[in-house]
Amino acid sequence: MLEQILVSIQDLTRKGQKSLVVFDLDSTLFDVSPRLERILLDFAAAPLNQKLFPEQVTLLKNIKTLRSDWGIKGALERVGLDGHHVEFQEAIKDYWQKSFFSNHYLQFDNPYEGALEFVNSVESAGAEIAYLTGRDVERMGVGSEEIMRRWGFPLNDKASLVLKPHRSMDDAQFKTDWFIEADKKGYSKIYFFENEPVNLHHLSQFCPHVEMIFFESTHAGKAEPPEALPRIMNFLLNQKES
Ligand SMILES: [Mg+2]
Repeated sequence: MLEQILVSIQDLTRKGQKSLVVFDLDSTLFDVSPRLERILLDFAAAPLNQKLFPEQVTLLKNIKTLRSDWGIKGALERVGLDGHHVEFQEAIKDYWQKSFFSNHYLQFDNPYEGALEFVNSVESAGAEIAYLTGRDVERMGVGSEEIMRRWGFPLNDKASLVLKPHRSMDDAQFKTDWFIEADKKGYSKIYFFENEPVNLHHLSQFCPHVEMIFFESTHAGKAEPPEALPRIMNFLLNQKES
């Protein structure tokens, strides 16, 4: 699957044709569960929270997030924090939202296996690259660029980072609109790696020729992934087909 994409890109490059590979960031290139865990542990470490919510904070200190976590609900439930204490739930939800969508905590994300190598191989094969994310410029622009560079993801005139100009924009609409514009730029082939089924369904209505690859990590649970799409769980090359 991934190998075939690289070969196709190389063929197009050899023929002088342009190709584009688009990657979502959160839960596609990056595992955000370490970010989530760090936020919850920082909440538990704050003296004020220890004073206000002593029992909850004691449970919170043992928290472990999983790749499959979406938001904080599941992780909290696993340590026995099941939503009964309203003030605690509101305080931690506020803290999570403020922290998760911020520059500061992006440093705790980890690229999925093979992600860095694959993106660099795509660049070497001659495709243009875009990181198309639902993160917004105001809250996460600076940190996103800094962290991409720190990990060694290509960022240059052929590899661009595209964030939402404003947080209020709908992710699926924002991404589809971007693809409609990209479509006018003469690419022979466009690929899109994405973990959120809602975004894939929306895009497929407007740009059915974009080759979409579903990244199976976690998602909002608002839609099932399109059946016909290829699925991957990491970016490692030369895996046995299952
Ligand atoms: Mg995502």
